[in-house]
Amino acid sequence: MSETRSEAREYAPPVIKAEELDPKFKYKISKMPGAEKIMACFQCGTCTADCPIARFSEFYRPRRIARMVQLGLKDRLLSDKALWLCSACFTCVDHCPQDVEIAGIVRVLRNMAVAEKNVLPLVYKELATNLMKSGFVYEIPETRLQKRVEQGLPPLPKPNVSQVVKIFEVTGSARLLEKVQTVAKVESR
Ligand code: SF4
Ligand code: SF4
Repeated sequence: MSETRSEAREYAPPVIKAEELDPKFKYKISKMPGAEKIMACFQCGTCTADCPIARFSEFYRPRRIARMVQLGLKDRLLSDKALWLCSACFTCVDHCPQDVEIAGIVRVLRNMAVAEKNVLPLVYKELATNLMKSGFVYEIPETRLQKRVEQGLPPLPKPNVSQVVKIFEVTGSARLLEKVQTVAKVESR
């Protein structure tokens, strides 16, 4: 597909209304660990050009996320399904000429979305629940463990599940997982 056709298909966000802008939002975000450099973004687009997810999505653009934070489009950001597409590969962080940590900013926004909008994609809830119950993010089937033995690999370390549960309880994550509403699937197009 030619570049022109691809550009034409790109997602066009709705017109921004003045009342949507929260001028304090960027200052609040810049106080969060990982998001301190948000004001330094000068919209060069390197992050989007190199982002592996942007390559396959018509609307996921890390540069746009940075600009939306700077403009204070908080409600749009926290309700934006694009937030959940970032794979946290940190390519954007490695390549940004201004040292802006887009991956960190996305993490901060995701945490805010869960805390303030009470939403989480189902897959994240499942992974967190696995972690809380077994100490592993993915459930490891018995056949896989048996294969390790056959290959002469050492056994996996046994997680201390009661301590993991305690962390979930102390941090409020266990309660949060119980009440959070889930989004079944986030499409990239
Ligand atoms: S690479 Fe850095 S400065 Fe350039 S648009 Fe992305 S975040 Fe902003
Ligand atoms: S960390 Fe997220 S935004 Fe950055 S390049 Fe990877 S997928 Fe894209």
